[in-house]
Amino acid sequence: MATKKKDAANAEGLQLLEGKCRYCDTLLSVMAVDQEDADNMSTEQCTCAGSMYAGVERSATALIDQLFVDDDPDAHWAPASTVQVGLIRRLATAVIHCDILGATVNLGTTQAKIVAGKSSPVMISRKFTTEMSLEAVE
Ligand SMILES: [Zn+2]
Repeated sequence: MATKKKDAANAEGLQLLEGKCRYCDTLLSVMAVDQEDADNMSTEQCTCAGSMYAGVERSATALIDQLFVDDDPDAHWAPASTVQVGLIRRLATAVIHCDILGATVNLGTTQAKIVAGKSSPVMISRKFTTEMSLEAVE
């Protein structure tokens, strides 16, 4: 009996479930495949501050991966180390939560800059630190 029920749900894929936001326990009715999916969807759709911060943190993680983890196809720079990426993620979280206004991390040949954006909670950038200076002599 239970197997038949599960098969019917799988055949249709989605069912109407009450999902609970992980941050504020708000219940939302969503079309989901199971309870875990319903809770995930409700957390994403909830408009509470916890859900908003989590969304921004997910977005910042994707940006950090793009700049510091993924292999750069144009070989501008090498991926940062696991410790460096961890620090950058923690600093981004601190900026998102307004604990700090920004931070700059010296990675050797490149520099990571994490600051509050003008129209977003956080802006992350990476630039080369190498500089060439020449002095003219008499
Ligand atoms: Zn919520």
